[in-house]
Amino acid sequence: MKDCLFCNIAKKEVSSDIVYEDEQFVVFADINPQAPLHLLIIPRKHIHSIDHIEEKDKELMGSLILTAKKVARQHNLAGYKLHFNVGKEGGQVIDHIHLHLLADRK
Ligand code: AMP
Ligand code: ZN
Repeated sequence: MKDCLFCNIAKKEVSSDIVYEDEQFVVFADINPQAPLHLLIIPRKHIHSIDHIEEKDKELMGSLILTAKKVARQHNLAGYKLHFNVGKEGGQVIDHIHLHLLADRK
């Protein structure tokens, strides 16, 4: 998606503090952190929100959670919070699916 901020971050057309990336996912620091460590995990594939995932996205969404776990391990986190905002009424501001990872220490 040409005008999507997070697609452009994934393509590195917009700069961000990327902490992990692979073929399918990019993980970067939230610009307005709500915890000492606040990362966003996104698939490179543009999907609007959890409300837009389809049966064919099952494996991708499983891998998204495994990526969160992998990055948490890399940061030596004992515990952390994961959350999705879904839709404008659910607090979603950026219309490219993203999993928030929040932890009390960096
Ligand atoms: P949400 O409310 O779930 O859509 O969350 C969007 C998140 O993206 C917010 O926590 C913002 O602080 C974050 N955000 C917005 N623009 C950027 C950016 N350019 N780089 C990193 N994070 C961003
Ligand atoms: Zn996008």
